[in-house]
Formats: sequence, structure tokens, C-alpha cells
Amino acid sequence: MARYTGAVCRQCRREGQKLFLKGDRCYTDKCALSRRAYAPGQHGQGRKKSSEYGTQLRAKQMTRRYYGVLESQFRKYYELAEKKEGKTGEALLAILESRLDSVVYKLGWASSHAEARQLVSHGHFTVNGKKVDIPSYLTKPGDVITIAEKSRSSAKFKALLEANATKPVPKYLEVNNDAFEGKVVSVAKREEIDLPVDETLIVELYSK
Ligand code: SF4
Repeated sequence: MARYTGAVCRQCRREGQKLFLKGDRCYTDKCALSRRAYAPGQHGQGRKKSSEYGTQLRAKQMTRRYYGVLESQFRKYYELAEKKEGKTGEALLAILESRLDSVVYKLGWASSHAEARQLVSHGHFTVNGKKVDIPSYLTKPGDVITIAEKSRSSAKFKALLEANATKPVPKYLEVNNDAFEGKVVSVAKREEIDLPVDETLIVELYSK
């Protein structure tokens, strides 16, 4: 399946949730969901009743879209989560949060997951001193992520760091913008992940 390249705001409108896919625009009154809080398409304002399967599917799609992950990859993360101790749904979210692009976004070094993915692909970061340009790279506690030296003085990063200087960082991460450095402190706990989804619905969907 190809990566979704349509109008990203349609994805938020489809899920009825802000997925923060467009960076700064999401925090303004230009947000498409604020203007048109109904699903896109001809029947978008029609019947809202959903079946059990429909609700489970929406939870999965919303989570997948929030992290910008393809179906096949999402399924692999689920299988990985099943092998972890504890609740599968929570383990799934923790894995998604540990992706390098997600960590970069949550450190405040990108204004959206999509931008974080692009910055990682372009080789702007190192993990434990080594360049990593794979957005899906799974970080682990203790990993130190650094903005590559050549990127630090770029206008892009100066603007990003300035704009996100006061953005709160989740507890499982630490950031030191003066040193261009971030650290994964621990595995993300459910209460530290700011995503309004019932992850047990995803487990129910995949358990069928
Ligand atoms: Fe979603 Fe952001 Fe578009 Fe609003 S502006 S609909 S939050 S992607």
C-alpha cells in the first residue's frame, strides 16, 4: 500500500479528532476540523452510528494516521507488542512512540510527525553518535539523540528550536536544546502518551 498523499486534513475530519498532521496550522483557527467538524465526502454530515467493528477500525486508523505508519508496518508493531509483557495495546503505543521520527517530534524538533520523518530521512540526527536516517528506527531507554553538527546552524533548525523552546516534553524524554541533545529516559507509559484513543479497541480488532 502506498503512503497516503491526499489532503491530510481529511484524515482528521474522517476520524473526528485533531491528529496534528500539519504543524503550526493545527493550533490556529485555520484548522479544517475546527471549520468543518464532520467527515469529508458526500455523506460526511449523515448518519454517525457505528458498528462495533466500525469503532474498532476507526481507533486503529486514527492511531495509524497519527503516527503516519502504513498498514503492514502497523501490523508488525502489533505483533511485536503481543510478545511484550503487560497490556498489548499499551505496548503498541510505546513502540510507536519509540520510533525515531516520533521521538524527534516529541522533543520539539519538528512541528509534525511528517516533518520529523522528512528531517530524519535527510540525515539531520544521530543516535548515540551515529547518523541514523531511518524514521522507523526504534529507540530504547538510554539512547541519546543529537541534531547533527552540520544542521545546527541552519535557519530551519534555529526557527524550529525557537518556536518549540517552551513546548512541554513527555516524561519519558529529556531535552537540552543548548546542547542540541535529547535522551530517551524510559519506555513511554500510557498516561504519558497524549493520544485520545482507546487502544484496547485495536487489540479487539486484531484479535478477531
Ligand atoms: Fe488535522 Fe492539523 Fe488539518 Fe486541523 S489543521 S485538520 S489538526 S491536520
